[in-house]
Amino acid sequence: MARDRVVFPKAVRRALLAHARRVRPRECCGLLVGRGTTVQFAVALPNVDTRPARFKIDDRDHLDLRRLLRGFRPPLTIVGVYHSHPRGPARPSPSDVAEAFYPEWLHVIVGLGGTPHEVRAFRIRRARAQVVHLVTRG
Ligand SMILES: [Zn+2]
Repeated sequence: MARDRVVFPKAVRRALLAHARRVRPRECCGLLVGRGTTVQFAVALPNVDTRPARFKIDDRDHLDLRRLLRGFRPPLTIVGVYHSHPRGPARPSPSDVAEAFYPEWLHVIVGLGGTPHEVRAFRIRRARAQVVHLVTRG
């Protein structure tokens, strides 16, 4: 039952870093699509939170993606969410922990605050963040 490793393609990692760099100093965000403990794609979405160090994915974008994914065979589902910390580390902030509503999701954070830029992943359950090891591939 321990789900502390997730397969994470290099192309997805590169896409997240590129998205984070493109929109800084704002936070970027998007959803991660895959199957089980494998991430296959990142879907970049607009950050609809206007506050500087926050992000929010529009509920409509989330529902539209869910609806679209229902048509895929073999099935694809939303397996996580990503966002960036333009000036900080790749570690969940108190608001990230407080606002993590999907305990099964992978929470990927791109940290642009240091060198090199980092991409790290967590599961956030019962107000606790646990590191998930990303097994890169591709
Ligand atoms: Zn954050």
